[in-house]
Amino acid sequence: MRYAEVIVNVPIRRTFTTRQGEPPLPESPDDAGNEWRTFHYHLPPHLEEILQPGHLVWVPFGRQQVQGIVWQLADSAPVPTRPVERLARPLPVLTPVQLTLAAWLADYYVASILEVVRLFLPPGLLTRSGRKEQPRARRELQVTLAAPPEELETRLQTLARSTPQATVLSWLLDHPGERPSPGDLAKTCGLRSDSTVRTLASKGLVRIQVEGVSLAVPRSEAEAQLATWRGLAPYRQVLAALQEAGTPLWKSDLYARVPTDLKTLRALHRAGLIRLEERVRFRDPLAGRSYPPSAAPILTSEQEAVWQQIWQRGFQASPPGKFLIHGVTGSGKTEIYLRAIEETLQQGRQAIVLVPEIALTPQTVARFAGRFPGRVTVVHSGLSAGERYDVWRAIRDGDFDIVVGPRSALFAPLPRPGLIVLDEEHEASYKQNAEEWGSDTVFYDARTVAHRLAELTQSVLILGSATPSLESYFAAQQGQMILLEMSRRVMGHGMSAGPGSADEAVAYATLPPVEIVDMRQELRAGNRSIFSRSLEAELHATLDAGEQAILFLNRRGTSTFVMCRDCGAVQECPRCEVPLTYHERAAVLICHHCNRRYPIPERCPNCDSRRIKYFGSGTQRIEEYVSQIAPRARLLRWDADTTGRKGSHESILARFAAHEADVLVGTQMIAKGLDLPLVTLVGVISADTGLYLPDFRSAERTFQLLTQVAGRAGRSQRGGRVVIQTYTPEHYAIQAAAQHDYASFYRRELAFRQEHGYPPVRRLARLIYWHRNLEKAQEASQEMVAILRQRLEALAPAGQAMDIMGPVPAFFARYRGYYRWQVLIRGADPAVLLRGLPIPFGWRVDVDPVSIL
Ligand code: ADP
Ligand code: ZN
Ligand code: ZN
Repeated sequence: MRYAEVIVNVPIRRTFTTRQGEPPLPESPDDAGNEWRTFHYHLPPHLEEILQPGHLVWVPFGRQQVQGIVWQLADSAPVPTRPVERLARPLPVLTPVQLTLAAWLADYYVASILEVVRLFLPPGLLTRSGRKEQPRARRELQVTLAAPPEELETRLQTLARSTPQATVLSWLLDHPGERPSPGDLAKTCGLRSDSTVRTLASKGLVRIQVEGVSLAVPRSEAEAQLATWRGLAPYRQVLAALQEAGTPLWKSDLYARVPTDLKTLRALHRAGLIRLEERVRFRDPLAGRSYPPSAAPILTSEQEAVWQQIWQRGFQASPPGKFLIHGVTGSGKTEIYLRAIEETLQQGRQAIVLVPEIALTPQTVARFAGRFPGRVTVVHSGLSAGERYDVWRAIRDGDFDIVVGPRSALFAPLPRPGLIVLDEEHEASYKQNAEEWGSDTVFYDARTVAHRLAELTQSVLILGSATPSLESYFAAQQGQMILLEMSRRVMGHGMSAGPGSADEAVAYATLPPVEIVDMRQELRAGNRSIFSRSLEAELHATLDAGEQAILFLNRRGTSTFVMCRDCGAVQECPRCEVPLTYHERAAVLICHHCNRRYPIPERCPNCDSRRIKYFGSGTQRIEEYVSQIAPRARLLRWDADTTGRKGSHESILARFAAHEADVLVGTQMIAKGLDLPLVTLVGVISADTGLYLPDFRSAERTFQLLTQVAGRAGRSQRGGRVVIQTYTPEHYAIQAAAQHDYASFYRRELAFRQEHGYPPVRRLARLIYWHRNLEKAQEASQEMVAILRQRLEALAPAGQAMDIMGPVPAFFARYRGYYRWQVLIRGADPAVLLRGLPIPFGWRVDVDPVSIL
C-alpha cells in the first residue's frame, strides 16, 4: 500500500481544544508547536500511478471533506489511514522545488506549513469546502472566420430572409428590361395572387403599366431596400469586423466594435461562416498597455566590467555566484539586469525580477516589457483574484519567461528559473510586515528567500541598490556575495546607442550637490518657519526658471520625539541609546527597548534651553506654506491620503511628469526610473523625523532615504540641487548622505551595530502580542518571557549565546484598539528558542524583523 502525507486545509489554531466534531489532535506531540499539520492517507487504486507530491486533493477529515496538498508519498503510515478521495486538479499545484522551499520557509520563520503553502497559490485555489466556488479560468466565446473570403458572399445569401415582396423585387432586379404582367410575375415568383405586386406598387417601388411591371425607383434604391428585407446587413458587419481584425475575436471585444448579438452570431455559425468556441480567456494584467520595443544599448566600460564578472562567476560557474551591485542611482544597473535576463533566456531558462512596489516602478516594468516583448508578465496584489489565477496558470504553463513583481513574485511557478534579480534590495517592503493589520501570514524576507531559492534552483542571484542594506553589504564583506561597484552615473537623456565604444556615446552626469541647512541657525536668525531661507530661495529660483521641485517629508515619526530647537539634542535612554518616545496621556517619556520611564524635561539637559519641543509636521502644512510664498505654483500632494485608489500612484506621477504641476509634496519615495528631467530641486523638510525613532535601523533608513531622494534631482543637463534641513547636521547618516558616501556610513553604522549586538552582527526574533485589554497583554507577555527563559536555560548547555529583551510595549503601542507588546530574542539563530514551542494564540512570530517599532 502507498501512502500520502497531506497538509490539510483546516483552520489554524495554535492551541488545540478538542470538542466533538473538531479536527483530531495532531499525530505526535511535536506537531502541536510548529503547526506541521500533515496527516497520512492511503492511495486508492485509481490514484496509485497518478498521485504526486504537490497535488491538490480532497480527503476525508472527521465528517468533512477537505482539501489538502500532498506533501510527500510514503510506503508506510504510523497510524490507521483513510483513503485520499480524489484529485481537485489534474496537475500538481506545487513543483518539487516549491515543496522544498516551503519546508525551509516553515522552519526558518517558525511558521505554519499551511500558511507557507498558501504563499505559492493564487487566492481561492485552496478552498475550505466544496461549497465555495473555486476561481475558474474565465471562459468566453471566441469568434473565428470559418470560410475563405471568396465564399463569404455566396454563403451569406443562405441567411437571406425571403419574403414575397423581396422575391418579386429581386426578380425585377435580376431581369432588367423584362416587363411581365402582374399575374405572370406573381406566378414566376411562386405566388398565388398578384396582391404582393400591387402592394409594391402602392409603396411606389414598382410601376404597373399596360406594357407590364417595371421598377419605379433607381436600381440602387431598389437594391438597398432589398438588402434591408433580406436582413444581411448585421451579418456583413460582423464579417467585416473579423476580416479587419485578421485574428479571432473574443465575443466581448466583437460586441465593443459592432452592434450585434448572440442570435446573429449563432445564425452565422449555422451558415458555416464563423466558428464559435468557448475558450479560456487569459486576463492579462498588462493588457491595454503598449510598451515601445527597445534594443539593448552598448554597455559602458563600467557596465562591461560588471557584466563580465556576472557572466563568468555567475552564468559560467557552478554553483553560480551571488552578486550585490552597489551602484549609484542612474549608474545603469537596470541595464545589467536586462543583459542578465537575455543571457538567461538564451540558456533556455527563466527570470524573476523583484521590484519594491509595482505602482512605484511603472517605468522599470516598461523597460522589461519593451526589451522582451510578449515574454513578461507581472504579479502583484493589485490584480483581481481572476487575474492572479490566470497569471499563475500562464506562468506554470510556460507562457511567460520573465515575472516582474514585488516580493510575492518569488513564489511564481516558473518551470525553469535561472535568474533572480532584486532591484532596490534595501527596501523595507521586501519583508512581509508583521505590524500590518490583519497580516497573519508568514513574515518572510524576500532577500533571504531569494538566496535560498537561488541555491535550490542553481540560479544566478543579483541584488542591486544605491544604498545596500547593512545585511547584504555585510554578507558581501564576509564573502557570501560578490560585490560589484558602479560609481558613475549614465546620463540617459536624448541618447541612443551609437556604434563604437559606448563610452563615446554616453555622457556621465555628476551627482547633485547637497546643501545641509542647520535649522538651529535659522531659529537663531529669527526664522521660525518650516522652510529655511535657503530652501525658500531655491524654490523661488526653480519656479522662476519654469522647472520643477519635489519637497519630501518622512512619513514615519511625524510623532513624537523630544528635541531641543537650540542645540538639537534629542532625549535618549541612557541605557539603550535610543530616542525616548513622548507619551501624551501619561505625560512621560518611555524607552521602547527597556520600558524605563523618564520625566519630560523642562530644560534641555545639554544647553539648558527652554525651547524643547515634540516633533511633527504634515504634508498639509507644507502645502499651505508653499501656496503662501508662491501662490502661483501648481501643487500636487502625494501621500497615503491621496493615493488610496488603485492606479492613483501612477496618475499622480504621470501628471507630475507631464508638468501639470510645479511642486510635488510627498511622503512617498519618488518612483524609481521615472524620467523627470525638469526636476532640479529636491528639498527634504526635516531629515530628523525618521532619525530619532526608537529602532536600531533609524539611521540606516534615514541614510537610504536621503540618498535616494537626492538621486532624484538633476537627472538631465539642467543639473540639480538638494537641500536637506536638519537640527542635527553633524549626524553621520546625514553627513554621509550629503556626500554620497556609502562606505563611511557603513563603517560607522556597523560599529554601532557591533557595539549593541544588533543585526547583521547578531540576529533578532520578535514576538508581538495583540490584545484589547492592557492587563491581558502585559500578563501574556510576561508569561511568554518566563517560558522563553526556561527554554533558554534548558538549551544553555548547547552553548548558544542568546538574550531575551522585554516585555515592552511596542512603539506603536496601541493600534485599532489593540495593545501591542513585544519580546525580542537576540542571538545567532534566535528561532532555535521557538521551534517546537507551543506558541499561544494571539502571538506573532517575526524572525529577522526589519522594524521593531
Ligand atoms: P539604474 O538602474 O542604476 O538607476 P539605469 O539602468 O536606469 O540605472 O540607467 C540610467 C539611464 O541611463 C537610463 O535612462 C538608461 O536607459 C541609460 N543607460 C544605461 N546604460 C546605458 C548604456 N550603456 N547606453 C546608453 N544609455 C544607458
Ligand atoms: Zn539644547
Ligand atoms: Zn532603555
